[in-house]
Amino acid sequence: MPYRAYRYRFYPTPDQVVNLNQTFGCVRYIYNRSLRYRQDAWYERQENISYLQNSALLTEWKKEPECLWLNDVSSVPLQQSLRHLQTAYRNFFQGRAKYPNFKKKDGYQSAEYTTSAFKWDGESLKLAKQAEPLNIRWSRRFEGKPTTVTVSRDPSGRYFVSLLIEEAVALLPVVNSTVGIDVGIKDVIVTSEGVASGNPRHTAKYAARLAKYQRRLARKQKGSKNRRKAKLKVARVHAKIADCRRDFTHKLTTTLIRENQTICVENLAVKNMVKNPTLAKSINDANWGELVRQLEYKADWYGRTVVAIDRWYPSSKRCSCCGYTLDQLDLATRQWTCPKCHTTHDRDVNAARNIKAAGLAVLACGETVNPVVAKAAIGSTR
Ligand SMILES: [Zn+2]
Repeated sequence: MPYRAYRYRFYPTPDQVVNLNQTFGCVRYIYNRSLRYRQDAWYERQENISYLQNSALLTEWKKEPECLWLNDVSSVPLQQSLRHLQTAYRNFFQGRAKYPNFKKKDGYQSAEYTTSAFKWDGESLKLAKQAEPLNIRWSRRFEGKPTTVTVSRDPSGRYFVSLLIEEAVALLPVVNSTVGIDVGIKDVIVTSEGVASGNPRHTAKYAARLAKYQRRLARKQKGSKNRRKAKLKVARVHAKIADCRRDFTHKLTTTLIRENQTICVENLAVKNMVKNPTLAKSINDANWGELVRQLEYKADWYGRTVVAIDRWYPSSKRCSCCGYTLDQLDLATRQWTCPKCHTTHDRDVNAARNIKAAGLAVLACGETVNPVVAKAAIGSTR
């Protein structure tokens, strides 16, 4: 059965704020100390520290007289932070992520609890070392029991709890349609049927407000109470932008999954593209990485198929009618006419049609038949 995460806002009591602050602080301390230890071990002795060694170190650190405060919080989130570090290292060594970063005090804070460290009675959730259940705003229902609970605080000071539930999701009825989607900036997606999603450009919408609060923040004295308040205002605008972005992407992916049995999409290297500074904001708003991630897990839930096409496939330059491929197509050219069959193409719709055709070819022939799409992955990539 697939796992599904449910995220809710909650409002901690003053006691819970104290406990959560302590817990976040301990998690951060253990994560950062482990990271430093592992770095030093490598640079000084070329020694690789395993998760088990790290775990043994944690036991030692908790016995140190100056670190006894580590015992005031549940031990589970501390242990989980070692697992997270281990995952961060694995992602780094397998080329999926950058080298792990130290956690910052004013960044996003989180602590993960497994079943031994929380109580769920079907209605309320109580964390270890806390006297009362969390005051959660239950915005949606779920069936089943949480297996993991993550509490977090975003930089704007809001608290969230995320419950991981193992559940059987009812598959959607099978539909007989396949769609190719081209992702871009003018429109976040354009489908092979010619439907364009638009791009709400949330960053631009809130740019003036953000600039105003950032100017105010810059004038405040370092370490002052007013600076902290000003910083919170900036963080709230960022949170607002992130919320709008997430909401838009969810609506988009839910519609695509509901209406299509198979969704073909380009496999993009989003990280590389975001490095382009003039495009970075628009690309962040378009939220491509999250779009593909949502498509994949929703396809998994509802029994749909996502086909990722190699991003080097010449989807824009190829005529979707006759297969003729242009040598070059300028990024600014929105429309072009095929020199061979004389069809006039909208750049994005043509690309989406090619992506759909390539996706269908992958599904029909298997991944290694066509060398152009040899690197394409079938189904939800996990
Ligand atoms: Zn043509």
